[in-house]
Amino acid sequence: MEPIITLPNYINGQWCASIATEFLDVTNPATTEVLAKVPLSPTSEVNQAVEAAAEAFLTWRRTPPTERVQYLFKLKNLLEEHFEDLSRIITQECGKTLAESKGEMRRAIENVEVACGIPMMMQGTNLEDIARGIDEIMIRQPLGVCAVIAPFNFPGMIPFWFMPYALACGNTYIVKPSEKVPLTMQKIFQLLEKTGLPKGVVNLVNGAKAAVDAILDHPQIRAISFVGSTPVAKYIYSRAAANGKRMQCQGGAKNPIIVLPDADIEMTTRIAADSAFGCAGQRCLAASFAVTVGEAQRTFTEAIAETAKKRVVGNGLDPNVEMGPVINAQSKVRIEGLIRKGANEGARLLVDGRYPNIPGYEAGNFIKPTILQDVDPDSELARAEIFGPVLSLLHVDTIDQAISLVNSGQYGNMACLFTTSGAAARKFRYEAEAGNIGINIGVAAPMAFFPFSGWKESFFGDLHGQGNHAVEFFTQTKVVVERWPGDWSRQF
Ligand code: NAD
Repeated sequence: MEPIITLPNYINGQWCASIATEFLDVTNPATTEVLAKVPLSPTSEVNQAVEAAAEAFLTWRRTPPTERVQYLFKLKNLLEEHFEDLSRIITQECGKTLAESKGEMRRAIENVEVACGIPMMMQGTNLEDIARGIDEIMIRQPLGVCAVIAPFNFPGMIPFWFMPYALACGNTYIVKPSEKVPLTMQKIFQLLEKTGLPKGVVNLVNGAKAAVDAILDHPQIRAISFVGSTPVAKYIYSRAAANGKRMQCQGGAKNPIIVLPDADIEMTTRIAADSAFGCAGQRCLAASFAVTVGEAQRTFTEAIAETAKKRVVGNGLDPNVEMGPVINAQSKVRIEGLIRKGANEGARLLVDGRYPNIPGYEAGNFIKPTILQDVDPDSELARAEIFGPVLSLLHVDTIDQAISLVNSGQYGNMACLFTTSGAAARKFRYEAEAGNIGINIGVAAPMAFFPFSGWKESFFGDLHGQGNHAVEFFTQTKVVVERWPGDWSRQF
C-alpha cells in the first residue's frame, strides 16, 4: 500500500507543507479508502497567500492581456493532455462516474477557452466630443487579489467558472477547494505550475472554516466567489460584504421539472432520470421534484419508476456503472432520514433505494435512485434541498398551478418544462422564477459564454460567474473625461 500523503499548499510559486495542527481524511466515497490527508490551514497561511498575490499583482496587471492569455492557452493544452487522469481523480474523490467527471472537465476547459478571448472581452468604450473638444473613455482595470471558495460536488469545474477570467483580466488569485475533495485542485495546480505563470499569480490554500474566515476578513482581498450551500452562502455574503468586498455567492437549490400531458414521455423520462439521479443527485441543477399535469401523472409515474429501478449503481470507475455513491456517510444518513421522514408524513415510497447491496462495495456510501409520490407540497421533502438521488412526485391539474408551485419555493436555481407546445414553453420561460430555465432539458447548465444565473436563495450578489458577467465581476470601470490644450484654445 502506498503511504498516505498530507497535501501541501501552493503559495508564491512553492509547494509548502502546512503548519496546520488539524487534518481531515480525504476518502473515496465508493470504497471509504483514505486517499490523502488535507490540512486545515490556519489564518497565517491565507495571509501568506494574500501577500504573495498582492506582490504578484503589481507586475501581472501590467502584463499585456495578449501575454496573459498565453498562459491560459498553455493551461488548456495541459488540461487536455491530463484529461483522463483529472477525470479519474474526480471520480476517486467525489464518487461520480468517469463519464460525468469527463463532462465536468470539459466544462472546466470551456471556461479557459472563453477567457482566452479577454483582449476582446475586456475592452472599454469611448465617445468623442461629449462636449466640444472633450472626449470620454471607459476603461476596465483589474481589482487586485481575488479568491474562490468551492464546494465538493464539482472539484474540477467550479473554480474554473471564475479563475480563468480573474487571471485573464489581470487579477491574482487564491483557490480554497472543498476540504472533502482537494485532490483535483492539487493536480490542476501542478499543471498551472507547468504553464510558467509568475510566482504568486495563483495560490492554493487547503482548509475549512478558519481559512474561509481569513479570506473573508483580509483587507487586501477585493472580490470573492463562493459556491456551496445556502446557509453558508448567506454567512459568507454578509461577512465579506460588511468588509467591503465584491461578492458573488451561489447557494443551494430545489429544482422542479414540470411534465405536461403533451410531453414526449419516453424522452422526458430519460432526461428527467439523468437530471434527478446523475451525479447521485449531488448537482445544484439536479431535478429534485417533478410536477405532473393532468394525464402526465399516470404515464410519467410509471415510466420514471421503471427507469429508476434499472439504473446501475456502483463504483464510478466501472464503465458499466450509471450512478456512483454520495459523498460521505454523514450525507447518506441525512438523505435516508429525509426519505424516512417524508414516508412517515404520508408520501408513498414508489422506489426505495435505501440500504442497497453493492457487491464488493459494502462500506461505500450508496443510495440507489429513490422516488416518492403523493408528496405534500408543503412538506420538507418538497421544499428542502436533499442533494441525493431522490425524486419527489407532485401532481396538479393546470400549468398555472404548476408554475405557482414552482414560484412558491425559496430557491430559484433552475426550473424545467417538458412539453411539445411552443405556447406553453413561452409562458413558462416568461413566468417561472428561476435563473436557469430548461425546455425539454433536464440540466439547464449554461455554457461558459453565458452567465450561470441562479435567483432567489440560490444566489447572493449581482454579477454571476462565467462569460461577460465574470469579466464585469473581475474588473472595475474607470471613466476618463479629457480635453487637451490645443483644443480648448482652438476656435470652433
Ligand atoms: P458547503 O456550503 O458545505 O461548503 C462550501 C464551501 O464552504 C467549502 O469550501 C467549505 O469549506 C466552506 N464552508 C462550509 N461551512 C462553512 C462555514 N460554516 N464557514 C465558512 N466556510 C464554510 O457546500 P458543499 O456541501 O461542499 O456543496 C454542496 C452545496 O453546494 C449544495 O447546497 C449545492 O446546491 C451547492 N452548489 C451550488 C451550486 C450553484 O451553482 N448554485 C453549484 C454547486 C453546488
